[in-house]
Amino acid sequence: MIALGGLSIIGQLVAVMFVGTSLLRDDRARTVELIQMTGVPRASYFSARFAAGYLLSLFTLLATVVALVVGYQMPWLPANSLGPMPWSAFAMATGALIAPNLFFGAAMVAASIAFTRSMKYTVVAVVSVLVLHNVGNTMTHGASMLSAMLDPFAGQAMIQMADKWTADQLNSAIPLSGTFWLNRLFWLAVSTALAWGAYWRFGSLPDAGKAAHANSTTESAVPPIAHTPSVITVPRVGGWSEVIKAWHIARTEFAQYVSGVPFLCCVVLIAGVVAVYLLFERSIEGTPVYPLTHFMLRQIEAAIPLPISAILAFYSGEMIHREREERLASLVDAYPVSEGAWLAGKTLALLGLLTVLVDTGVMTAIGFQLLRDVTAIEPALYVQGALLIALPLGIFAVAALAMQLLAGNRMAGYALTALLGALPIGLAKLGVQDHLALFGTTPPIRYSDMSGFGSSLAAAGSFDLYWGVVGVALLLFASALHIRGDSDDARSRWALARVTFRNRRRCAWLASLMVVFAVTGAWIFYNTHLLNDIHPEESAQTRQATYEHNYRSLIKVPQPRVTDVNLSVDLHPSERRVCVDGIYLLTNESSQPIDTLIVSVDPTTNTTLHVMGMRSMSTDTMAGVIQIHLAAPIAPGQSLRMAFETTDERQGFTNNSEDDDLVADGTFLDNRLLPSIGYNHMRELTNARVRSAHGLPPYIAVMDATHPYVSDDAGRITFHAVVATDGDQTPLAPGRQVRAWRKDGRSYAEYVSERPMLNLYVFLSARWQVTRTTWKGVVIEVYADPKHPWNVNRIITALKDGLDAYGKAYGPYPLSEIRVAEFPSYRVFAQSFAGLIAYSEALGFTSHRDDPSGIDYPYFITAHEFAHQWWGHLLVPADAPGARLLTESMAQFSAIQLVDQHEHTSLNALLASERDAYQTGKQGLAEPEEPLDEVQRQDFVAYHKGALALMDYQRLAGAPLAEQTMRQFLIQYREKEAPYPLARDFIDALRASLPSSDHARVEAWSHRSGLPE
Ligand SMILES: [Zn+2]
Repeated sequence: MIALGGLSIIGQLVAVMFVGTSLLRDDRARTVELIQMTGVPRASYFSARFAAGYLLSLFTLLATVVALVVGYQMPWLPANSLGPMPWSAFAMATGALIAPNLFFGAAMVAASIAFTRSMKYTVVAVVSVLVLHNVGNTMTHGASMLSAMLDPFAGQAMIQMADKWTADQLNSAIPLSGTFWLNRLFWLAVSTALAWGAYWRFGSLPDAGKAAHANSTTESAVPPIAHTPSVITVPRVGGWSEVIKAWHIARTEFAQYVSGVPFLCCVVLIAGVVAVYLLFERSIEGTPVYPLTHFMLRQIEAAIPLPISAILAFYSGEMIHREREERLASLVDAYPVSEGAWLAGKTLALLGLLTVLVDTGVMTAIGFQLLRDVTAIEPALYVQGALLIALPLGIFAVAALAMQLLAGNRMAGYALTALLGALPIGLAKLGVQDHLALFGTTPPIRYSDMSGFGSSLAAAGSFDLYWGVVGVALLLFASALHIRGDSDDARSRWALARVTFRNRRRCAWLASLMVVFAVTGAWIFYNTHLLNDIHPEESAQTRQATYEHNYRSLIKVPQPRVTDVNLSVDLHPSERRVCVDGIYLLTNESSQPIDTLIVSVDPTTNTTLHVMGMRSMSTDTMAGVIQIHLAAPIAPGQSLRMAFETTDERQGFTNNSEDDDLVADGTFLDNRLLPSIGYNHMRELTNARVRSAHGLPPYIAVMDATHPYVSDDAGRITFHAVVATDGDQTPLAPGRQVRAWRKDGRSYAEYVSERPMLNLYVFLSARWQVTRTTWKGVVIEVYADPKHPWNVNRIITALKDGLDAYGKAYGPYPLSEIRVAEFPSYRVFAQSFAGLIAYSEALGFTSHRDDPSGIDYPYFITAHEFAHQWWGHLLVPADAPGARLLTESMAQFSAIQLVDQHEHTSLNALLASERDAYQTGKQGLAEPEEPLDEVQRQDFVAYHKGALALMDYQRLAGAPLAEQTMRQFLIQYREKEAPYPLARDFIDALRASLPSSDHARVEAWSHRSGLPE
């Protein structure tokens, strides 16, 4: 249904062409006077024309809908992923989206024509509608009434509703929200007003046609000249003179359009939409960031492609057909200019307009940076980024020209262009993901100050070349069918085409383009299909489902636990390669002998295992399970060493630029890469729809107090790792750094766990700048990209405050070192390991506190992650629903306390922000809200409701008693092995500290949905 809504946006182009031509036809055909002589009032003439144009465009779009419906039934589509045919959704989309959206477009066009008597301004009308649509979609994060109302196509209102739907509902009819209907009503009223305005203007100016006609008499002074198409009439002048002519045409055309009022309006609109994006989208995942060049480019890329495509589509028709429409063609074509020079000139002119538009976006962003305190503007990055944004648009422009030539007249050309634009969107909605089949598209472009474009640059470049060749070939092919001059009938076109295709040069050109196309296509195929998986997500799901199908029965089979980990990690970031040599010490903590080891490995890696006294081994490479039968069983209490070697290599580029953890500068690899012991239930699929698609029963959460929430094959481990990386980078891992050295041009560092830690670790490597200090005996180190120095001191301050305050509240920090490290913004999250915290570049290191009374994110995020050293690492919850109350809720609560004690942010502002975040999260809810004591996946419960509930408890108990109760609970489980605490244990402890009159209140916030009053 959302796809159909999107279709009605592209349909604007169709509305323009039908309504526009309907209304202007008689002016163009010089029959206005004739019509007027018949005595038909201009108003009723207008109504008839308007209605005809509207109905025609509606009909065209509905035909597309029917095509979609037919496409939906196609047997090759995977049936269970699409579900049954959603007839009611199609009906709803037509009635509530397509028909009114088209009416709005038609009314806009009619009004712009009625008031300007020219087709030229329709482009301004359409672009302003698209800009309004984009702006409505960006104005505010989350659900905002204003943003929902601003979009004339109800896109935002749809998205706000869609957030609440389940996947099945998305494809079927759903009760639509009040905001949605309000939006529809409002824009229907606006459309009606516009249409009425146009009607009134037509009716009240009976001589409007004459005036317009008088205006254009100068153009029509040239009488139509009969023109017989023939290639021979074009004098052939080869070589450089043709290039000069093409250049001359390009300059003349470009100058003519670029200085026109309609184009200037478009430039202003593009600057406007970029400015709005920059003003309202200053944050990433809710954190305001510094206006760095790559964030600017990200906003430009989000803001301009849709309106610029519409502008390019309009001017392609203008360039190809204007001369003929104004009866100048015969005259112009009489000049000795070859078809090639003529077309090359027009293409260059259109690409020139595109350059102006993209540069407008870039200039707006640079202006924005200059107005805000940005130190370094990066011109080279702007050039690269602008090129990557402009290339797909340029390909679209070339294809739009081809469509105009193919169609032979402007309106049919617009229809073909709209179809071409809609094709990849429609195919993508039908599940086609391969960019090799989606015209003009490329994998998403990623950029990080640390690691640059990564593999996404090679991907985008290859696809741009691939589709660029298609665009040029289309243009060459279409120009063979094109007759310049006034007459244009099918027979003479085909006659001409036959002549032209005998032209050896054109054929040679087409052939060589085909060769480039084939070579580029093969290169891309090699990268996206052979070197990499084209559908990595689906493949991973299939593997996970197979894993669960085949091995879940083994979940209760006793297995030894990992008690010691000893690793040698060889990172090669520049080659995107890693090799880990490791030894696990496996201890039989059960009461019976174990004769078979079940080892789960990541099937995308290359992993080999070696065990002393192995009798036989069976390997399931698809599911990633290796079973080792031992000659002598491991007796209870005894241990065994298992050695392994895991290698992982990333090659080439992928179809979706999803490769983001092993990168040139800023690698972040966690131990999910390495083998785990026993059946690993954390590999199970959790999404209900995906599970049922793979024939799995509904997900059942594990409820097991014998292992911690992060790993089911270990309690606390001792850890030792030597990490090596490229010579210009620094290797990092959790634990205390024993030594660091350089050998053979590589950097080495050795890390050892100071105290037994969770079986959860990570390897990082980057070119950081390290800031080092100590606080009360604890070494503090911050590893930041040299370009992001701004927040390092805030992060250090938060760590110092945390050492003091958390130490006092929950007991002393157990380690002698704490490190914070930055990784690239390809991924946005923060995570706490033993003595090591890692953030995304987009979160803590580039965030910018532009409002002094607002939340200081670097401080707050550090406070939250540092609190996990107590709530998550010292106290470890059991693997059971509700575990996140003891980790996320407590970390969030602790961070609020720390900010409240040390910062100027008011407690009320903090609590208001938590309440907002809870409400926003809840608004997008498809399933029932999870109760806090059983929370699993719902972040808004685990973080925000949890923090508010604990604040409520603190208010009831009073701060000193609350702190004492929490400290006692933590000390009871501090660094203990199984049984690990459950959420219930914690809630019981909190409740016990309160008088019985408050018990019901604690039960209410822990077990019911909604916030404490
Ligand atoms: Zn957290």
